[in-house]
Amino acid sequence: MREQIRGICARYPSEYWQGLDRERAYPEAFVDELTEGGYLACLVPEEYGGPGLGMAEAAIILEEINRSGGNAAACHAQMYTMGTLLRHGSAEQKTRWLPGIASGDLRLQAFAVTEPNAGSDTTRISTFAERRGDRYVVNGQKVFISRVQHSDLMVLLARTTPRDQAEKKTKGMSVFVVDLRDAGDQVRVRPVGTMINHETNELFLEDLEIPAENRIGEEGEGFRYILSGMNAERLLLASESIGDALFFIDRSTRYAGERVVFDRPIGQNQGIQFPIARAYMHTQGAIAIRDGAVSLYDAGEPCGPEANMSKYLASEAAWEAANVAMDTFGGYGMAEEFGIERKFREARLYLVAPVANNLVLSFVAQHVLGLPRSF
Ligand SMILES: Cc1cc2nc3c(=O)[nH]c(=O)nc-3n(C[C@H](O)[C@H](O)[C@H](O)COP(=O)(O)OP(=O)(O)OC[C@H]3O[C@@H](n4cnc5c(N)ncnc54)[C@H](O)[C@@H]3O)c2cc1C
Repeated sequence: MREQIRGICARYPSEYWQGLDRERAYPEAFVDELTEGGYLACLVPEEYGGPGLGMAEAAIILEEINRSGGNAAACHAQMYTMGTLLRHGSAEQKTRWLPGIASGDLRLQAFAVTEPNAGSDTTRISTFAERRGDRYVVNGQKVFISRVQHSDLMVLLARTTPRDQAEKKTKGMSVFVVDLRDAGDQVRVRPVGTMINHETNELFLEDLEIPAENRIGEEGEGFRYILSGMNAERLLLASESIGDALFFIDRSTRYAGERVVFDRPIGQNQGIQFPIARAYMHTQGAIAIRDGAVSLYDAGEPCGPEANMSKYLASEAAWEAANVAMDTFGGYGMAEEFGIERKFREARLYLVAPVANNLVLSFVAQHVLGLPRSF
């Protein structure tokens, strides 16, 4: 699997990603090739036309893309967003959508949870889906909703009972599949410019009509369904961070061996070698925790703490390695053509998304260590 992905990535070198970064363009050719190879369908079971592979394989695919210098964030959500549908959808819904997702004819790679006035406190979302006969009518606003312009379907979390009337604050939210192709002006999309090439958007939902048959599972239980998909998301994005960390370490090691200053390779200086060695060890630690969590996930065991710790440790290791690469490359780290500055910017994202690392710390403090709840 690693060799296959490396083979594909070799056809999309740094210049390819650099050009897209400059143009803020979507990696169409790369995503098409991954789709045609069936890689993005990795987690779709065989009965729905997918290869029915596990998290171990999915993690390797994304890790290798980022290790090669690519950016899997353009398409990673096609792998895991369908998990909500797979776990909680009806037989009819799965038959309707999963085979198209498996073949790549349908892109389900957008999910809309975050809102400007709720932030990390998801229970405060105010986008509201009101039931009217055989449909829901949705009004509200979302922010940072990625890949909407390159997706046919979108998973949406909305309140169906106001927070103050719900039995618990985590109840009264529901999950829907929105067909973006039919939405027209009911979903207005305003791209959010960011410091990386990541197609992300603000969404204005105005009287968006969703057939009731597109609601996943029971009304009011949506938060639980979204949470159940988070371990997969944490593990896959941790794998991208591990790929980023290894990219920076590979490049730093090579450059430190080649670049001669003061009549010696810079890598002969402990001031250069030690930070690379430290970043390497931290990355290996993150890999060990990630691999353990992936084994639990694939065995169907609970892995919430391990998945969250993987995401935290991997993103920190990638950011450490990114800074080490910047120091190792000196001024050339800043030069676009070396590809370090682009990956540096991209690696920074995973300290705050899809969950901010402070929230992981509070999860571990409270749920693993039993410390008092802080919010
Ligand atoms: C490029 C990009 C793509 C994204 N794609 C998607 C997407 O496709 N779909 C989607 O739904 N969302 C998406 N997001 C949103 C992302 O999940 C959120 O940005 C993230 O969850 C943090 O929320 P926030 O930005 O509102 O930060 P806030 O919640 O406002 O937090 C701001 C800072 O305060 C800290 N903080 C908040 N509360 C506490 C506390 N109690 N204790 C300690 N620290 C705290 C946080 O750690 C953070 O550092 C994306 C974001 C980005 C930047």
